Amino acid sequence: MKTVLAEDAQAQVDLGRVQTGVMPTVVADATTAGTPAVEQPVKRDLWDTVVAELDEVAARLKLAPGIHAMLRQPERELTVSIPVVMDDGQIKVFTGYRVQHSSARGPCKGGIRYHVGVTLNEVKALSAMMTWKCAVVGIPYGGAKGGVQCDPTVMSQGELSRMTRRFTAMILPILGSKRDIPAPDVNTNPQVMAWIADTVSMLEGKTVMESVTGKPVNLGGSLGRKEATGRGVAIVTAELLKRRAAAHAETTVAVQGFGNVGSYAARILHEMGCKIVAVSDVSGGFYSARGLDIAAICKHVEQNPKHLLEGYSSPGVDRITNQELLVAPADILIPAALEHQLTAENAPYVQAQMIVEGANGPTTREADAILQERGIVVVPDILANAGGVAVSYFEWVQDLQNFFWEEDEVNQQLQTIMVNSFRQVWDFAEAHDVPLRMAAYMMAVDRVASAVQTRGIWP
Ligand code: NAD
Repeated sequence: MKTVLAEDAQAQVDLGRVQTGVMPTVVADATTAGTPAVEQPVKRDLWDTVVAELDEVAARLKLAPGIHAMLRQPERELTVSIPVVMDDGQIKVFTGYRVQHSSARGPCKGGIRYHVGVTLNEVKALSAMMTWKCAVVGIPYGGAKGGVQCDPTVMSQGELSRMTRRFTAMILPILGSKRDIPAPDVNTNPQVMAWIADTVSMLEGKTVMESVTGKPVNLGGSLGRKEATGRGVAIVTAELLKRRAAAHAETTVAVQGFGNVGSYAARILHEMGCKIVAVSDVSGGFYSARGLDIAAICKHVEQNPKHLLEGYSSPGVDRITNQELLVAPADILIPAALEHQLTAENAPYVQAQMIVEGANGPTTREADAILQERGIVVVPDILANAGGVAVSYFEWVQDLQNFFWEEDEVNQQLQTIMVNSFRQVWDFAEAHDVPLRMAAYMMAVDRVASAVQTRGIWP
């Protein structure tokens, strides 16, 4: 296969121990020899995928051409340059983006990503996916996304704080609690959200905690927010198992990505009784047919200075690569790392019969077609990972009212939204004889288009 992966020798040895089908062997990248195994994702253009999906849905919905044209472009794209004084005194200039795809259904909402691979097209694509996500779960927001092209793993807390604050100041003209409300995404966390909230508050001369969500609980964050996306993934997975009349105790799960989304999805599904047989992150993965000790793995990641799985070991647990994880024997596969992980190259070898997309855009269109052809059920990202934005919405409501809920109430409301949305998408798919992804997109695009139509085109 074309993917070039960094692998250590141990993983090569383990290849034979895990029944991963007959996928062609991965290739070691000589440039990373001697460094910890860090796998590079294949970069394809997620924006092309998003536009192609919209075009297909628009044709099925017979969407008015003018509204279709509106939804094919974000409302607003902002590119900023972010000078930061690094710890060694040098000035480094980073590039950042904030894109607002649609405000038809409410203020724009979407995370901020720190990653070397961030591009304007990626941020545009993720902003459109936020529009569809909020619509499919009925939350009164439009869609936005932000990102800074940087490698946060080699930056100090001081450098990250200065970069975050300067980035916030640069995009502030288009932010606001009724305009556009950021949240965490890949490599950003409650601390980064706290810096954003503080920067907006300082520049506006008043406390505006409602300007961002995913904050620490002591700064107006919501109980249950950090677990919310993973919990939503687990709730949707449990609903899917109900439809398939499958018992939790007999269900095996593989999770790619052990960050915010993947680790909580694994933990909560484990608590629900499922057997988590494989997990991975950027440093590689682990597999055990008997089931992994998720509590021990979480403890290892918490104590690891880089918060990675690397260095974990346990008797009977095999080391595997991310590519092996995707095709490992499991009933359910949860890709919860980055986009375009399931491709035309590996989709024919996926052994899971159900895929629940924790990440945004983990499946290419070609892979999606192959999975569909093979009868594999895919719960699409805009539904499966909407738990995060749902609880971000609860956080915003709590901040605006200055009245905070108990964690049980947050989790109960999340359960209601995820279960109802899953049922609606499942029933729509059955009624129209389309896959779940098409059903979710048709429902979402229709809701956004109808909001545009009802508001009318100003002036
Ligand atoms: P995170 O930074 O907390 O975790 C990302 C995980 O993916 C880490 O374990 C990292 O090591 C791993 N990873 C990175 N590159 C990888 C690679 N090439 N191969 C395998 N693993 C790799 O990020 P997150 O917040 O958990 O987000 C994960 C995905 O979920 C993203 O697609 C994000 O957009 C999506 N998402 C996140 C939220 C949220 O609330 N955080 C909400 C909805 C969707």
